[in-house]
Formats: sequence, structure tokens, C-alpha cells
Amino acid sequence: PTRTTPEYLDRLNPEQREAIETTEGPLLILAGAGTGKTRVLTTRFAHILLTGRARPFQILAVTFTNKAAREMRQRIGALLGEPVEGLWLGTFHALCARMLRRHAEYVGLTSAFTILDTDDQLRLIKQVMEPYRIDTKRWPPQGMLGVIQRWKDRGLTPERVTPAEDSDFGGGAARRIYEEYQTRLKAVNACDFGDLMLHMVEILRNQPDVLAQYHRLFRYILVDEYQDTNTIQYLWLRLLAKRDGYPSNIACVGDDDQSIYSWRGAEVENILRFEQDFPGARIVRLERNYRSTAQILAAAAGLIAHNDGRLGKTLRPGREDAEGEPVQVVGVWDSDEEARIVAGAVERLRADGHGLAEMAILMRAGFQTRPFEEQLMTRGIPYRVVGGLRFYERAEIRDCLAYLRVLAQPADDLAFERIINVPRRGMGTAAMQKLHLDARQHGVPLTGAVAAQLGAPGKGKTREALLGLMDAFARARETLAREGHVVAAEQLLEDAGYLQMWRDDRSPEAPGRLDNIRELLRALVDFATLEGFLEHVALVTEGEDAASEEKISLMTLHGAKGLEFDTVFLPGWEEGVFPSQRSLDEGGLKSLEEERRLAYVGLTRARKRATILHAARRRVYANWQDAIPSRFIEELPDAHVRHSGQSMQERRQLAAQPSVFAFGPLTAGRRAASSTAPRVTDVYQGTPTEIPVGARVFHQKFGYGVVTGVDVDRLQVNFEQTGEKRVMAGFVEQVS
Ligand code: ATP
Ligand code: MG
Repeated sequence: PTRTTPEYLDRLNPEQREAIETTEGPLLILAGAGTGKTRVLTTRFAHILLTGRARPFQILAVTFTNKAAREMRQRIGALLGEPVEGLWLGTFHALCARMLRRHAEYVGLTSAFTILDTDDQLRLIKQVMEPYRIDTKRWPPQGMLGVIQRWKDRGLTPERVTPAEDSDFGGGAARRIYEEYQTRLKAVNACDFGDLMLHMVEILRNQPDVLAQYHRLFRYILVDEYQDTNTIQYLWLRLLAKRDGYPSNIACVGDDDQSIYSWRGAEVENILRFEQDFPGARIVRLERNYRSTAQILAAAAGLIAHNDGRLGKTLRPGREDAEGEPVQVVGVWDSDEEARIVAGAVERLRADGHGLAEMAILMRAGFQTRPFEEQLMTRGIPYRVVGGLRFYERAEIRDCLAYLRVLAQPADDLAFERIINVPRRGMGTAAMQKLHLDARQHGVPLTGAVAAQLGAPGKGKTREALLGLMDAFARARETLAREGHVVAAEQLLEDAGYLQMWRDDRSPEAPGRLDNIRELLRALVDFATLEGFLEHVALVTEGEDAASEEKISLMTLHGAKGLEFDTVFLPGWEEGVFPSQRSLDEGGLKSLEEERRLAYVGLTRARKRATILHAARRRVYANWQDAIPSRFIEELPDAHVRHSGQSMQERRQLAAQPSVFAFGPLTAGRRAASSTAPRVTDVYQGTPTEIPVGARVFHQKFGYGVVTGVDVDRLQVNFEQTGEKRVMAGFVEQVS
């Protein structure tokens, strides 16, 4: 206590200290990426405790993810020198769930209420919709859930939905369905995810006693990533922070340039309105970026400068030592080469002593992880997919694989069980038991038992559905023999109604799932047979390296918000991938600007090294289509970028050619199997290789091996795993 400056404030700059030491009154910290916003918030938390202004449970701290909450808890513990208990620290939903348990009776629930998962929600909404005789082809139940979710995000209970706001969903029945859905939830003492916030806001609005209780409890409120709060979150915060006669000790940190969740209802306007909501608010700006090298920072700043209507912030490098390397932009041939180059770079960095935990591959969309996962698995590099499942573990991928397994092998009961009722075909538990019994009695697989049941006379919806399924398999088997596995696979998923199931799904995840399926179908092209593909998948999915802590992170750009890594790889910077096709189709400036902010978030995750990649070709099923480099690449300031691989000029020439890259809808153009576009093999053919006999090489499919013979552009290689093979030199990388 004799020190004038406590140790934890020592190394902070004056603005950061101001933001920490101004504990009373509303405060907004508006600052760019990597300026220490989160660090300030954490230190502020500790400062309030260490100066005796509040007890741990009197501070409400909101983070954007559970991971961020864990990290903040750890950092606070470290600053205080001991772990702290009883903190009100977490995501909006986690904090609301905890509050709601205490006051559930005000909204007709008991404290033991259950939180429904999406399957339960769907079942319930279907029940509610049934008597309305709504055309579910036009208005699928998932869509109704989406409408309800959006209302909840905006803080609208059924009573608050005005006729003008009633969705045209279900021919005007939406509001009534919503009301009934809420009634049914209460009847079973349950709520959905959106209710956690909605109910709490209702309680705080209607129960002055409860509100007063929290006003007394929370002396300080801290909010990270304020730019991404939606209306209901904003209402909740404002209710808790505004109390008559007292200053609102609310501190929010945010960056309008990193607002990337408007598609989920986030309102960047909340940050602009802060001064009106909290008169007398102090605004602190932080301008020194302590995360990234000067080069990375300048590149990111140049990019985001292309957005209009920004609040405008200065961002200066804060680490004098770190000029760093320019941002690398690498042109590659296709997405396989992209993955190979990244995995090769990761291996080299690792060999030079860089930890895997300090590297990340950040992509625009979840489906892009697949080639990277396969490369990393083949080379034995441990990785984790953050905020999501590994590609082959995703539900829709497992469903599709199950369909393909049954196609390859009708006796695969496990696979058949997975998909017999996906999409729903009315197979309940009793019907399944009967099926198992039949199969056992006659010593046939489940598919055989179904066929036998269908052979007997009968009628009914389930029977029709099963007939459709068995038909789909039969037709796909014919196609398989005639046209091959790529055509057969898609046809099967289409005929069995599986693709339609996701097209009808209006949940925000559904388009991503369709993208994943599209990527799976694309991967099929690499294999000569269906069996070959299924074997490959079985091999790459087994053998998790759970023990190893050091892993490279794969995640989406959205999931990377707030995080930092020494090395960041940013693949797929092509028009139609990033910016996404959807944002381009929408056409508005708004969605393009949000994509650009996402690019800015991606670049500013890097401390020392950032590599952007773009491919010349993307494969759309069996076809190769030209890809145009993302406009974001051209927007990067030249002085801070180094190009390698294909030059921009070459790329422009390619782009000027008539065939233009675009992701078609899942079924479009599929059957036009022969493309005039050159294939990988055309290009590499005939170029003599320089790889000598005796060289150790790496092949994208077969792994490591030693060259035993050379023939112009072909190599004979003795692979460690699979033995002697003749391969194209163009697919091989010399490693020593
Ligand atoms: P983002 O906008 O990406 O969420 P942020 O503003 O929250 O970034 P932080 O994550 O808090 O930034 O900080 C970025 C990095 O800079 C962290 O590694 C942090 O420890 C470091 N840092 C922050 N302030 C300082 C400082 N005064 N001196 C040295 N390093 C600092
Ligand atoms: Mg942060």
C-alpha cells in the first residue's frame, strides 16, 4: 500500500490506466483490435476488488463466449494471486440462466426448468403447428422457430408482437403459434435458449423488487465485445445498469470495426447510442496495438479503410521492437494445394521450434476445414477444430456417410439405423423393435427386413416413406453401376429426401450444413470407387491424439474473435468464398462491409505472421472453375504485402477468361461432368521433375516415402505406409 502505483498497473499506458481507474460512472472504451480492451476489462475487475470497492460477487462481467469467460476468470485469479469463487462472470445466456433459476416462478416456471435442445424445440413446434393445417412445404416448422428466435432476439414476447410485425409466415398464424408454443413450454416447465434472456428481461421489467435487488447487488458492470450485442441483450444490460439517483457504473468495451454478428441480430448502433443511454459517459480511446507487428497492422488498417460510416479510430503499433514481415499473399492452384502448402509451412515452423498452439488456420466457412484436416492428419500434426466438430464428426456428414455405407453395403445395420428415420419417416421405437425382431428371426440385415415388410400388403404414411427410401437405394445402385459413385451419391441424398430436409431447415446453421455436404461430395471425386472413399474416411477418422496438448487451431473467423496467435493462415480469399457468395448475392453494401470487417478481424488475430491464400481453381463437383482472388486482397496496401505463387497479373488474365467462378446450387450443373477447364493433371504433365532418386518425399494421399525411380514427370516411390507406388511428380513434395 506504500507504493503509489500498484504493480498490476505498472506496464499499462496512460489511457489504459485511465480506463481502469475511472471506476465510477458510465464508461465506453472504443478502440481497435489488439489495443488491450479485454486486458483493461480484466485488470479493471481486479482493480475494483483490490481497492475494496466491491466484493467478487458484486461485479457483473459479460463475455462473448464461454471460452473467454474461462480465460478472464483465470487472468483475474492470477492478478489476485488466488482463485475467486462466486463470480457473476459469463456469457449473456449463462448469466441469464443463473438468474432465471432464482425467479422462475414469475414467468410460470419452477427453478428446475429444463432448457430444450433444438430437436426438442422442433418436436414441440410441430405439435403446435399441426392443428393449423399449414402447408409445411412452404412454411416448414424450422422456419417458424427462426421467426420466433428473431422475435425473441428483439425482446418481443407474443403480446408485444404487433399485427404490423406479425410475420407472413403460415398465412398470418405466426403470432398465435408463437403464443401457443410459449404456453406449451411453460406447461412442461421448459424454456428454449432465447427464453433465458426474454424471460429475464420480462421479469426485470415487471418486478421492481427483483430489479432493485440486482441494483443493490451489482455495483459494477463490465461488458466485452459490446459492438455485437443484440436488442434483447442491450435491454437486459440497460435495465440492470440504470438505477435512479446513482451513477451507472457500467463499462463497455468494443470496436465498431469488429462488428460481425449482424446476421444474428447484433446492432452496432448500441455502441453509437451509449452516450445517449448513459448521459455523462466517459469515452476512452486506446490507440496502441500491442498484439501485431507494424506490417500486419498497416495491412489491416488499409483494408478496413475501405468501409464507409466508421467511427474512425487511430491504431498505432505499440511494440517498438516489432516491424515484422509483410503479410504474405500466396496464389495456389486449388484447395488441395492450398492445404498442402499450409501444412508444409506448419511443419517447417514446428521444426524451427514454434509451438502448434501459437498457430491457427482461420476460414470463412466451416466446410473449408476438410482438406486441412486431411493434410494435418496425414502428416500427424495434432489439431483441434475450435467451436465446432471435426469435419467427419459433423452430424450431417455422418448422416451422409451412413447413406453411402448402406449404398456400398446394404447389410450395414448400424448405418441403416442412423438414417432410416432421417429425414423423419414415422419410424417410432416400437416399429424399430419390430424391425430388429424380424431381422433376427429371419437372419437378414435390417434392409432385408424392411424389404420383407414392404413385400406384404399394407398401407400408411410410414410405409410410403420406407418405399421411397428403398427405391432411392435401388435407383442409386443402378446409377452407381452405370455412372459411378459421384453421381450416385448425390442422387441418393436427393431422392431419399435428405438434402431437401436441410433446404427446408430455416435455422441459421442449415446453409453451412449444406455447404459441408457439398464439400463431402466434392471429396468423393478424388477416389476411384465408393469403397475406396469409405475406407479412406474410416482411416482418417480413427486415432485421435487426445493426449497431446500442443495443437494447431482450425476455426471460423467468427469463432476467432478476441483471440490471438503468433501465426495465422487465412485460406480461401476468393470471390464467392470470401466475400461469401451469399453476401455478394444480397448485393447490399452492408453485407459486403460486414465481410470486410470479418477480414479485418482475421488479420488482426496475428501477432507475427499472417499468410493469406487464394486458389486459382475451386472444384465444383467434377468441374473445375476459375476463381477470382478476393477483392480484399487488392484492397491491402501494397507496401505491406508480399505476393508469391501466381502473380496478380496472371490472376487477372485468368479472371478475364469467360468461365467465371461461382458456387451453383447444390444440384446445378452436376451432370455436365466433362469440363473444358484444364485439370491438375493436364498442367503438370510432361514437365520433367527435378526430384532425384533417394529423395525423401511427401505425397498428399500416401504420406512419406523415398523415391526409387524417376521417369520424366512420374516417380516410383516406396511409401512408408503403403509400399511401392507410381505417382505424378506434381503431387509430391520433396522434404529432404
Ligand atoms: P480484440 O479487439 O482483438 O479483442 P483487445 O483490444 O481486447 O483485442 P487484448 O486481447 O486485451 O486486446 O490485448 C492484445 C494483446 O496486447 C494481449 O496479448 C495483451 O496482453 C497485450 N497488451 C495489452 N496492453 C498491453 C500493454 N500496455 N503492454 C504490453 N502488452 C499489452
Ligand atoms: Mg478483446
